[in-house]
Amino acid sequence: MGPSAHKSRGKSAGDSTGRSALITGITGQDGSYLTELLLEKGYTVHGLLRRSSSFNTGRIDHLYEDPHDEGRSLVLHHADLADGVALVNLLRDLRPDEVYNLGAQSHVRVSFDSPLYTGDVTAMGTLRLLEAIRASGIDTRIYQASSSEMFGAAPPPQNEATPFHPRSPYGCAKVFGYWATVNYREAYDLFAVNGILFNHESPRRGETFVTRKITRAVARIRAGLQQRLYLGNLDAVRDWGYAPEYVEAMWLMLQAQRPDDYVVATGSATTVRAFLQEAFLAGGLDWREHVRFDPAYERPSEVDALIGDAAKAHDLLGWKPRVTWAELARVMVEADIAALEAELSGEAVRVDRR
Ligand code: NDP
Ligand code: GDP
Repeated sequence: MGPSAHKSRGKSAGDSTGRSALITGITGQDGSYLTELLLEKGYTVHGLLRRSSSFNTGRIDHLYEDPHDEGRSLVLHHADLADGVALVNLLRDLRPDEVYNLGAQSHVRVSFDSPLYTGDVTAMGTLRLLEAIRASGIDTRIYQASSSEMFGAAPPPQNEATPFHPRSPYGCAKVFGYWATVNYREAYDLFAVNGILFNHESPRRGETFVTRKITRAVARIRAGLQQRLYLGNLDAVRDWGYAPEYVEAMWLMLQAQRPDDYVVATGSATTVRAFLQEAFLAGGLDWREHVRFDPAYERPSEVDALIGDAAKAHDLLGWKPRVTWAELARVMVEADIAALEAELSGEAVRVDRR
């Protein structure tokens, strides 16, 4: 059976009321923005929460609903992408209309230090989720968070036809997840799509990714809390977009008539050095006075240049990016300055205790 045989959704894409979604990685950058988007559209959102010794829900605390409230629209469930049985049980019980697989060990440098763990969660975790959907026999649509890191050494611009040449255990794991998703679509007629997203950032970006590491440092240097910022390769070129716009593309992919794979990118890229300069400028600082090189932040094999061609997403989904990398740098610096000021004035402590 071909993918064209997918049954219609019963509701138009504009009417999402009554629909439900399960998000793995709900506590991450993208998970938090996607949750906001789906709640706005009237979905009931279920999130997979992995056990941690300290609270890991900071990005979604503002959406939290008391578990004792009737008719909640956001519900968190303890499970883990390493636990296939828990995934089957969860899917069988919840029977969500849509599943977004955003959970991953998502840091490239860390994947060189923990390659097997990265393979287990990022690659096998995807297969476990796909198999859980098949085994539970539910009718759902699944979005797989594929990555431009799969292109690795392939020269830019990269699009859906560009051959993969990953350069890290993370990139290799994402290639596995990509093909497992395609395979389940072809083998079991699952409505399974890959979003091949280029780097996307926001004030909620993890603190050890280069953009956020830079913008946090700008705020801390201005406040006198830090003097130096240690970085690795400044020559790398990345196509940085704005995360809230990218989660819209994820949703659009699951509303399409047919399951397919799409590149999501801005098409305009710059170097780490230029982002650094822009961010420091936004904070009224000169980066050369503060930034030092540390080889610990280099990767054993680097991805030199990622520049995406998102023409297909534009033509078939009507998706278009709006925020440029330079605007993004300024927005992130402003947000980190504001967050630090709030923290220093005790406001953040009050938020934490709510
Ligand atoms: P984050 O690193 O911010 O979030 C990753 C999420 O995965 C967190 O919620 C994390 O939970 C969860 N997670 C980690 N390990 C497990 C596990 N074993 N079981 C269940 N959940 C787990 O990533 P982003 O939000 O930035 O990215 C979302 C997805 O998109 C990821 O798969 C990423 O690889 C991919 N991607 C991201 C791009 C980007 O530029 N941001 C580009 C292309 C792809 P916890 O909070 O507990 O750590
Ligand atoms: P990636 O594209 O998924 O690896 O996203 P990152 O934000 O982690 O890295 C983007 C680029 O910045 C890569 O080419 C890194 O080598 C480079 N980079 C330079 N210094 C640093 C650093 O200190 N931390 C990180 N994370 N990346 C750095």
